[in-house]
Amino acid sequence: MPLPKPLVDLRFLISKMPGFSEKGAERFLDFWWRQDEKNRNDFSEAWNKFRTLNFCKQCFFFAEDQLCSFCQDNSRDQKKICVVSSPFIIPLIEKTNYSGLYFVLDGEITGKNGGKQILTIRKRRDYLKNRIISEKIQELVLATDFTSSGEATAFFIQEIAKAAPIKISRLARGFQSGDLLSYSDPITIKSAMENRTSF
Ligand SMILES: [Zn+2]
Repeated sequence: MPLPKPLVDLRFLISKMPGFSEKGAERFLDFWWRQDEKNRNDFSEAWNKFRTLNFCKQCFFFAEDQLCSFCQDNSRDQKKICVVSSPFIIPLIEKTNYSGLYFVLDGEITGKNGGKQILTIRKRRDYLKNRIISEKIQELVLATDFTSSGEATAFFIQEIAKAAPIKISRLARGFQSGDLLSYSDPITIKSAMENRTSF
């Protein structure tokens, strides 16, 4: 007997997600299906709430209102912006002594021509450039990964300096080349922030 269509559709959609194969999608759905009703309802409710999150109009981090909690916080240093390629890097940076604002790119540049992301990243870069000029931002801290795509993205963003007088720094190489920030421990990332160098 074939599997019901809603299950097949969901398995297909999940299998296309990072970290999932078709087998992984099946395991996830099997696990979910075996949960009691309360757990399943909790999951659905959390997922629905997640779906209604917005992107902050200023920095593209997750936001429940027009602006995220960082952009709404006047006690933060309004003259520094830390550029990350994923919103999930921000909680790591928060473990350092950094107290400025953020800007989230839409992924990283990959491959020779920048991959599919190049257009959206270029748009974000233009937006960031305007923000730097209008808000008189003094320092841009580049916190992209130390991988080839992270380095290419950092160079791409750094071109902003041609149009705006700004200090640009990059996290120090406490990392091995090829390291992903998301896998770094709090001590390494703290030291990388404190020892950041001009870029
Ligand atoms: Zn924001």
